[in-house]
Amino acid sequence: MKAINDQDLLNRIKESGIRPSYVRLLILNYLEEHSHPTADQIYTDLREVMPTLSQASVYNTVSTFQEAGLIQFLGMNGPGVHYDSNPREHAHFQCRECGEIYDFDLPDFDCTSLEGFYVQKKDLRIWGICPKCSILLDAQNISSSSKLSSKKA
Ligand SMILES: [Zn+2]
Ligand SMILES: [Zn+2]
Repeated sequence: MKAINDQDLLNRIKESGIRPSYVRLLILNYLEEHSHPTADQIYTDLREVMPTLSQASVYNTVSTFQEAGLIQFLGMNGPGVHYDSNPREHAHFQCRECGEIYDFDLPDFDCTSLEGFYVQKKDLRIWGICPKCSILLDAQNISSSSKLSSKKA
């Protein structure tokens, strides 16, 4: 595990008006290094670093971060809420094979058909197969129909 860049994380915590603590630094660092983890993932991984960590303090910490605008909560397929260290509006792609969640820029939505509605937040989630899994699935398909002419680079 990478050492915590204390100063940068400390500043971000202070700037968002939260009192810094070791647990907060640890969890914010984890969120920066992992793509959209769930509370269970955070708890399981960080228990190895900090055996006294409780599930309650993981939940409390991510709630505090979310209220302070440091992170956002993200509901995707499957159990558990995912925590996103990028608090800005952006779109997500979740792979149905490996479950990995990818960030991408939110395209411009035309909300003019929502006449009379006041749009506060825009969100876009897409599900499919990621490039890594596409390659693996292609490889499986090729090996299962292995009568193909052996092509070597
Ligand atoms: Zn995948
Ligand atoms: Zn994200």
